[in-house]
Amino acid sequence: MKKRLFTPGPTPVPENVMLRMAAPIIHHRNPEFMEILTRVHEDLKYLFRTTQPVVVLSCSGTGGMEASISSLFKQGDKVITVNAGKFGERWGQLVRIFTGNCVEESVAWGSAIQPERLAELLKENPDAKGVCLTHSETSTGTAADIQALSRVVREQSDALVLVDGITAVGAHEFHFDDWGVDICITGSQKGLMMPPGLALVAISERAQDIINAHKGIPQFYLSLKKALKSHAGDDTPFTPAVSLVIGLDEALQMVRAEGIENIWTRHENLARACREGCNALGMKLFSNSPSFAVTPVWLPEGLEWSAFNKALKNKNGITVAAGQDDYKGKIFRVSHLGYYDELDMLTVIGGLERALKEVNFDFEIGAGVSAVQKAFLGS
Ligand SMILES: *Cc1c(COP(=O)(O)O)cnc(C)c1O
Repeated sequence: MKKRLFTPGPTPVPENVMLRMAAPIIHHRNPEFMEILTRVHEDLKYLFRTTQPVVVLSCSGTGGMEASISSLFKQGDKVITVNAGKFGERWGQLVRIFTGNCVEESVAWGSAIQPERLAELLKENPDAKGVCLTHSETSTGTAADIQALSRVVREQSDALVLVDGITAVGAHEFHFDDWGVDICITGSQKGLMMPPGLALVAISERAQDIINAHKGIPQFYLSLKKALKSHAGDDTPFTPAVSLVIGLDEALQMVRAEGIENIWTRHENLARACREGCNALGMKLFSNSPSFAVTPVWLPEGLEWSAFNKALKNKNGITVAAGQDDYKGKIFRVSHLGYYDELDMLTVIGGLERALKEVNFDFEIGAGVSAVQKAFLGS
């Protein structure tokens, strides 16, 4: 059986990326590798829409979040975080551990924080040193308006704007420089179509100044100060994940070839078609501000997650993501982040139909696939 991955990280890896990574290992201080890293550094600027450095860390996305908090703040610094799902919650956990002074705003799952609410929070906390946001909250498939939120922070305060862009970079329009963002993180196994293992962190000029003067929180390995210093010479402070950096070079060539604006549009279109396919099958959508990376869907009344998932996986080779926390067994999430095209959406909705049939859910066969076709082909 052919296996097909529809999860928002890890995401499918293109064949040419896999082939590049399969080549014999080279030494990271060789000119050959330095040349690759130099190109990766340039192409990452293109991806994030920035002229500022984007550092490559050998860790998953969370390592990039941790490095940012521990490199920018000191014990006692007040930082505002927004908990609208698992990953916004993670910002809060990190801030509580490293500064011990977190103002956490809770937002209902499936919704995003509104700029007006953030403005109030900043008014109530004029001493906040940072605001941590999540562009695409993967646990709820919900996108926040980072452009508007960042503008509010920049207009009302000197707080730094930190964005978890882990499932947004490469899926949603994003302009690091123009939107006044100070830190944006992504991970290799999301929109970048790579295996897990790299975090990429874009760092603004004022964030660089703070990081370089920083001697607050004890840290050693996950240090943006060290990473920035090496980055200036297109180098890394420690042995990088050489094969992954080489794969990233290949993935970034694909990004360049398609064009970042086209990639954003493709994700928006795939997400819309996926939503229309699910709607046509009589399934309700979970998010009121849908992400272009992942579509969360309510499990229909009476449909048991484990039976449905088994039908998807064992009979059809399709892996989707389950709901998390309170929504375990209540929702499931279909990814279209990274290496996906229009025919992939026909496949996954067709797969959902086959699994629904298997568990005797009542729907019109072909309705979902037909809606996806219409979304792409019109009429
Ligand atoms: C996947 C993800 C993370 C965590 O990344 P890891 O690579 O698992 O450490 C953080 N935030 C968001 C929005 C994610 O989707």
